[in-house]
Amino acid sequence: MFTGVDHIAIVVRDIQEALKVYRDALGLEVSEIKEVPDQGVRVAFLPVGETRLELVQPTSEESGVARFLEKRGEGIHHICLKVRDIEAALKQLSKAGLKLIDEKPRIGIHGQKLAFVHPKSLCGVLLELYEEQEGGSYG
Ligand code: ZN
Repeated sequence: MFTGVDHIAIVVRDIQEALKVYRDALGLEVSEIKEVPDQGVRVAFLPVGETRLELVQPTSEESGVARFLEKRGEGIHHICLKVRDIEAALKQLSKAGLKLIDEKPRIGIHGQKLAFVHPKSLCGVLLELYEEQEGGSYG
């Protein structure tokens, strides 16, 4: 069902500060920095081979990421695995007894279909599913 790791999301207090280590010290390139006002976050993408690190900084106190940061501090927020058919994947995971946050896919900032699986079902790890897009570009 899974075809790869699309990205690993890391919550940070300040993207510019985080880039001092992730870009400057680790030497990773930044492909994109983007504001996502409707989710109350700013994100930076750093490709690593076939996958990407996604730094996520809350820009609104109301966002889920802000609550995560307050409760747990900086760190890994979720991992995202690619699937070919997200509806089929959700059906299968639900049948397997996993708790889905999204019963139906939502549309992400790059127009892709995505859905989240509850961390309580996966040993404390929030899992995101991405449906692979033709051509595999991230927009
Ligand atoms: Zn993600």
